[in-house]
Amino acid sequence: MALRLDLHVHSQSHGRTYITAENLRSALQRGKLHGVAITNFFDMSHALWLKKNITDFIILAGQEIWTKGGHIIGLGTRKVIEDFHDTEETIKEIHAQGGIAIAPHPYLFLGIGDKVYSAPVDAVESYNGIIGPYIIPNLRAKYAAKKRKLPQTASTDTMDSGYIGHSFTEVAADNEAQILPAICSGRMRLHKRSLPLPLSFIMKNLLYFKNIAPYSLHAMPCLICGSSMAVRPLKKKLACSACGMEQRSRILCSNGHYLCKPCIMEKTKKLLTPAPTERSKLRTPAPAESSKLHTLAPTGRGQGEGE
Ligand SMILES: [Zn+2]
Ligand SMILES: [Zn+2]
Ligand SMILES: [Zn+2]
Repeated sequence: MALRLDLHVHSQSHGRTYITAENLRSALQRGKLHGVAITNFFDMSHALWLKKNITDFIILAGQEIWTKGGHIIGLGTRKVIEDFHDTEETIKEIHAQGGIAIAPHPYLFLGIGDKVYSAPVDAVESYNGIIGPYIIPNLRAKYAAKKRKLPQTASTDTMDSGYIGHSFTEVAADNEAQILPAICSGRMRLHKRSLPLPLSFIMKNLLYFKNIAPYSLHAMPCLICGSSMAVRPLKKKLACSACGMEQRSRILCSNGHYLCKPCIMEKTKKLLTPAPTERSKLRTPAPAESSKLHTLAPTGRGQGEGE
């Protein structure tokens, strides 16, 4: 039997619930999927809560972790893994928890880049639906996976339940227990379909409109002003708005703010230690997973190039 799974979905981000249990269940039904992996940043409570409360589909709990080298996904982990440690160390911790490590979108956003050639990951996400329209980053990921003979996965990386399963991985497994071993041995077939470019994407990236709000497909608010991050066609020399360091990049906010990687990490670290009340808001997704949480305005406090 083959299980159809979207292996990279964010149900919450920046303290906001984007995908409720109800949303998720109807998305899985609509997309004729057997399940998803919920890989939120910084917190596993919503993933574990969804897993407990949705029993008619497979919910793999995991975490997308910011390592010093870039993003790594741990699937099948049981408790939160601390961010901002060495990539290798983080992968070791994922394995110690009985999980597997996947390198998501190595060549865009905060992926691990060329570290994908050496990091002890179990698989490479060679097709990420969000970056599908850019083509090249996914092709580079695929090339690296082939070179290393590593298994490849396809997923959406979406926060919008309407796009769950737009791209997905078909895993040769009969039940949930067989999924991770099957991924590690490459018994998979990839279904690749890119997520559409929203109008706001074209407005901010190609027409250079300002003050564009982050879109729900994959919210990436600027850490400075809360506007959506934009990707320019060509790399340009940009000065970090926090420390002034100059770097060449194509990612900046629609109002022109740019942060270098160390400053993004620094600012995000601060977000990880919110005041106790904010923390409880962040950590009580499950029972409070009501429309109230869902309609909270974006806090605009998220990391710019994340996810
Ligand atoms: Zn900004
Ligand atoms: Zn990511
Ligand atoms: Zn992600």
